[in-house]
Amino acid sequence: MTDRRKLAAGNWKMNGLGAELSEIEALIASHGAASSELLICPPATLIERMARVAEGSALQIGGQDCHAAASGAHTGDTSAAMLRDAGASHVILGHSERRAGHRESDAAVRAKTEAALAEGLVAVVCVGETLEEREAGRTLEVIASQLDGSVPDAATAETVVIAYEPVWAIGTGKVATTTEITEVHDDIRARLVARFGDEVGNGMRVLYGGSVKPGNAAEIFAVENVDGALVGGASLKAADFGGIIAAL
Ligand code: PEP
Repeated sequence: MTDRRKLAAGNWKMNGLGAELSEIEALIASHGAASSELLICPPATLIERMARVAEGSALQIGGQDCHAAASGAHTGDTSAAMLRDAGASHVILGHSERRAGHRESDAAVRAKTEAALAEGLVAVVCVGETLEEREAGRTLEVIASQLDGSVPDAATAETVVIAYEPVWAIGTGKVATTTEITEVHDDIRARLVARFGDEVGNGMRVLYGGSVKPGNAAEIFAVENVDGALVGGASLKAADFGGIIAAL
């Protein structure tokens, strides 16, 4: 089996003011030397300050979205170059809250991912089914079509990370069972291998996201094709995120 480095990624969503950088200082103090990869994606307003706090530590900083264009008349948007300029090395793309709230299509997510890769950012591309789709027995079909549509052909194991996040498990406290996670992650792995070949397909990391907490992280990380987690609520506090990192 390919040796994939585990990744704990935190998504602060629209949370965090300057005062909350103390959580990052605490996280670095307790887990800055972790052997796994650590990433926090704060709101755009905190990227530069957080990157300064994280300088010299193992913690990497990412954005939560970027525009597909390099620059121009896109009021309120942020380009991949701007994220990099502010100190980001990664960017989350196609999060279900953006797919739903900003009507982002797979094609839009793919274009953004291409822009991120062109700028040298690692893209964390999110996929996941709604409860309605799961109950209709369409989970694997939905994930397959999101993967095909959102992940560019140029993706490599170093430049793209997939995050499987069942929409019904995000911020709800409902976690997918390990059987459900195994089924989807195995299917994603098989699809990545079929599309990108053995080396890239087996090397690309696939994170699970959806109500991951210190108390359930170890069980989820024990699933074979789970290479870490994308964490929302529990990434805001150093003690909670530290508990998840410890389980990696
Ligand atoms: C997320 O926002 O990507 C997420 C998984 O949130 P939570 O951990 O709060 O469910």
